[in-house]
Amino acid sequence: VLSTMQDVPLLISRILTHGAAVHGTSQVTTWTGEGEPHRRSFAEIGARAAQLAHALRADLQVTGDERVATLMWNNAEHVEAYFAIPSMGAVLHTLNLRLPPEQLVWIVRHAADRVVIANGSLLPLLAPLLPHLETVEHVVVSGPGDRSLLAGAPVRVHEYEELIAGKPTAYDWPELDERTAAAMCYTSGTTGDPKGVVYSHRSVYLHSMQVNMAQSMGLTDADTSLVVVPQFHVNAWGLPHATFMTGVNLLMPDRFLQPAPLAEMIESERPTHAAAVPTIWQGLLAELTAKPRDVSSLTQVTIGGSACPPSLMEAFDRLGMRVCHAWGMTETSPLGTVARPPAHAAGTEAEFGYRLTQGRFPAGVEARLTGPGGERLPWDGESAGELEVRGPWIAGAYYNGPGAEPLRPDDKFSEDGWLKTGDVGTISPDGYLTLTDRAKDVIKSGGEWISSVELENALMAHPAVAEAAVVAVPDDKWGERPLATVVLKEGATADFAALRAFLADEGKIAKWQLPERWTVIESVPKTSVGKFDKKVLRRQYAEGHLD
Ligand code: ADP
Repeated sequence: VLSTMQDVPLLISRILTHGAAVHGTSQVTTWTGEGEPHRRSFAEIGARAAQLAHALRADLQVTGDERVATLMWNNAEHVEAYFAIPSMGAVLHTLNLRLPPEQLVWIVRHAADRVVIANGSLLPLLAPLLPHLETVEHVVVSGPGDRSLLAGAPVRVHEYEELIAGKPTAYDWPELDERTAAAMCYTSGTTGDPKGVVYSHRSVYLHSMQVNMAQSMGLTDADTSLVVVPQFHVNAWGLPHATFMTGVNLLMPDRFLQPAPLAEMIESERPTHAAAVPTIWQGLLAELTAKPRDVSSLTQVTIGGSACPPSLMEAFDRLGMRVCHAWGMTETSPLGTVARPPAHAAGTEAEFGYRLTQGRFPAGVEARLTGPGGERLPWDGESAGELEVRGPWIAGAYYNGPGAEPLRPDDKFSEDGWLKTGDVGTISPDGYLTLTDRAKDVIKSGGEWISSVELENALMAHPAVAEAAVVAVPDDKWGERPLATVVLKEGATADFAALRAFLADEGKIAKWQLPERWTVIESVPKTSVGKFDKKVLRRQYAEGHLD
């Protein structure tokens, strides 16, 4: 029996028109590094997104489901592109500006991008690539930066503001099929070529609603969200879309992502919420310790992308900034779990433990654990296996170039279509996920597994340690053993015996798991999205260093 409900497709254009009308006075504030930040209302963003769509259609002939790339920081113009491109029926392709140039070239070619919207400050990165980007015909430049870098480039160059000036401020957005492509991101390709994940209007819409739920980020129009997580890193975790549903004000850092300007922004613009990976927060913490600031407005901090060390959570709690841990990946849009403790744990000792987990699954994400032999494992909080997930905002395949059938590599999808996350962990009977490691990062010592994350968290709780990354190194007797690389706090000295004793203290870490190989490093190498780059460490220390 058919329902009697209206069949209105879930489209990004609907999120835009809703935000621009109902929350027209909410603001997108962009940090400019000097003087007053730039402020633009949701109503203005709505009008300018329509103008941009007209310009792309009329002047640049963007049609159909063509991919339009952005090479931009987090700012108001990037938000305009976020809404204009999918709403007109094209596909927003956010380029990760921290990828190595050869990977960027590979990705732009693979997506066959014809138009790139770029920030002027990123032209030094883009200009040298253009001779290798045969598909690119148009570059639209926005914001300050030296345009002369594009002189002689084999493309037509446009000024963003000139292009949209005088265009109509309304657009008759098409009634698309909600399952059509809206946006795409490539995973950063730690192994093999990058893989393209293509989000649909429907998946973005449903994911945005999830982001807004009280048990996720739960923000309202009384909030201002400082979006540090880049718009090219899984759609800034869905914040630009979600906030246009609810009128949450956006504070965009543009290219000012260093700890000092972030601290300044928090003090002067008084955001209530912020989102970023742990390394950003470690940097901010060091900055606030050296130079205290009034950060009292910031009461909720979403941390994800890699495990949040308990020491970081405690330090933030002391500053009044409550950390909410979350897990996700490019393939999951990204919201997979959010660590809001259950009501019965509030105010009890159990509460902190719940907050340290990766979090609880929302209704839209089904989860199961698979053991080494393919067997289903129980949700008992103890059985550890690979996490597999399924749901309306979870990828079911990878993009394989224009017109080609999507790819479903066996190591990424189960036969019955679930996404194999490559993450290993346990699930408690009440649906909280605890990750012990990424499958490729666990240390396999004498047939037993050692969690690199557990060792790192324990190390980072030591007062002399700023950062710690633990990787597997080959070992004749055990197959693999952990190597601890540590970054010391300024002025601290290394005493490996003391660090080892600290780990062993109170049985924190079992004796057989204690690393015997140690090294002090200047800084932990980071990936393009600010996570520990263990691949680089493994390469560097394959032979191990003895203390
Ligand atoms: P990349 O592969 O470049 O890191 P993603 O951002 O998609 O790209 O990374 C997803 C992965 O990041 C997850 O599979 C998981 O291993 C890790 N991750 C994300 N959030 C967390 C978290 N809260 N705790 C531990 N690991 C996390």
